[in-house]
Amino acid sequence: MSTPTLVDYDEVLERFDPVLGLEVHVELNTNTKMFCGCPTAFGAEPNTQVCPVCLGLPGALPVVNRTAVESAIRIGLALNCDIAPWGRFARKNYFYPDMPKNFQTSQYDEPIAVNGYLDVLLDDGSTVRVEIERAHMEEDTGKSLHVGGATGRIHGAEYSLLDYNRAGVPLIEIVTKPIVGTGARAPEVARAYVTALRDLLRALNVSDVRMDQGSLRCDANVSLMPKGATVFGTRTETKNVNSLRSVERAVRHEMTRQAGVLLTGERVVQETRHFDESTGTTSPGRTKETAEDYRYFPEPDLVPIAPSAEWVDELRGTLPELPWERRRRIQAEWRLTDAELRDLVNAGALDLIEATVAAGAPAGEARSWWVAYLAQQANARGVELVGLPITPAQVAHVIALVASGELNNKLARQVVDGVLAGEGEPDEVVAARGLAVVSDEGALVAAVDEALAAQPDAAEKIRGGKVAAAGAIVGAVMKATRGQADAKRVRELIIERCS
Ligand code: ADP
Ligand code: MG
Ligand code: ZN
Repeated sequence: MSTPTLVDYDEVLERFDPVLGLEVHVELNTNTKMFCGCPTAFGAEPNTQVCPVCLGLPGALPVVNRTAVESAIRIGLALNCDIAPWGRFARKNYFYPDMPKNFQTSQYDEPIAVNGYLDVLLDDGSTVRVEIERAHMEEDTGKSLHVGGATGRIHGAEYSLLDYNRAGVPLIEIVTKPIVGTGARAPEVARAYVTALRDLLRALNVSDVRMDQGSLRCDANVSLMPKGATVFGTRTETKNVNSLRSVERAVRHEMTRQAGVLLTGERVVQETRHFDESTGTTSPGRTKETAEDYRYFPEPDLVPIAPSAEWVDELRGTLPELPWERRRRIQAEWRLTDAELRDLVNAGALDLIEATVAAGAPAGEARSWWVAYLAQQANARGVELVGLPITPAQVAHVIALVASGELNNKLARQVVDGVLAGEGEPDEVVAARGLAVVSDEGALVAAVDEALAAQPDAAEKIRGGKVAAAGAIVGAVMKATRGQADAKRVRELIIERCS
């Protein structure tokens, strides 16, 4: 097959409408696996967290993890889904070395949650509603490590290693309905959806949602149809998208690639594709199996899941404040305009500011530290705010030192610099750098008298009632105290000494 050239993004949009479909797999943070008692901790020695059930040994019998079902129902409720009153697990049969049972236990056509939606916040502060088709329970596979090849993929590898620790870890797959009408914003919508879902799952405390560790994984389905058409085009499903930014890049790349295919008169092949972080491009994976290939049938070793209405209601009662409710509350409490709220959200500052307030700082001060000085520092280092080596508690402590008059703003920034430079806690930086405000009145008075004596002309003017002349004396005192005096108090003292 030829490699058609990519089409300029603007031209893609002149000719086509994109359609998206996002499948997100989330590993639940239960202590034990979906159908056995093996631990689920990430990063253990390979093949130390396995048993006859998750290794699929003959005669082993699975038992459903109740906490996993509760998490699935809570996710469904938070996504505004209907919770199915009855459903069976099914066996999805296929052979792959990382799946020791040779089938995956999954809810095939009887998902626990269906027909929901998630409102997704875009960068400009507007929202789009993404409809959810279903959320269903399944189990994770093990992991293969292909050794010796250039790409880390099986092709060209010398040998492969298998780790079954992850086999049987509870997974929820959340699938959207086709997302249409987003036009040029399709890549952004894809990223914003995964972001919103991640934040929701984090608020529910059902997963640690680490894309870099694979506990949140996104497959992005993309197709194009001629502008104004209503019949969807053929989709590809891009896997291996390991960061929020990659979700956006992968969708955008697929749009430009598929447009190239279509404009040369060829057809888009329905297939899975792999996203390559380093090049920002996708390459073909396998052509997609159809449902028949999997020979689905109901799992005979498990009873159906039949959550009672009472249980579902009880779980509804356990839902925490959800991200959009929290945003609304914070907006009201801190009296933010839509634009201010959007900027705080985009900067990833909400959690940090809330934690700083929780540590005792007034909201206004907490906000201004994070969005002004600390944002500048993050920018200069090329990291996210949350990546700065300073904690909300430390920021709150610096704010308290300013409030008590022990630091002025300039010194406070130096203390923060010290914390960021790894010099320890704020108090340690104050002590080590000698940064406390000079609040010893005797020392201040002496400094003021000295400055007045050094500038007799200015002193004379002040004595004559020209208070504006005090500025020069304040400057001299601040200089003499290396900026560590309270300028307001210095001014008061100057006027006192000259009257
Ligand atoms: P599969 O089992 O092939 O992964 P799923 O139903 O689990 O299929 O997921 C397919 C995803 O793609 C869903 O989010 C669906 O809404 C979306 N989708 C279906 N058709 C198209 C299309 N033509 N273009 C883009 N997305 C599509
Ligand atoms: Mg799927
Ligand atoms: Zn096990």
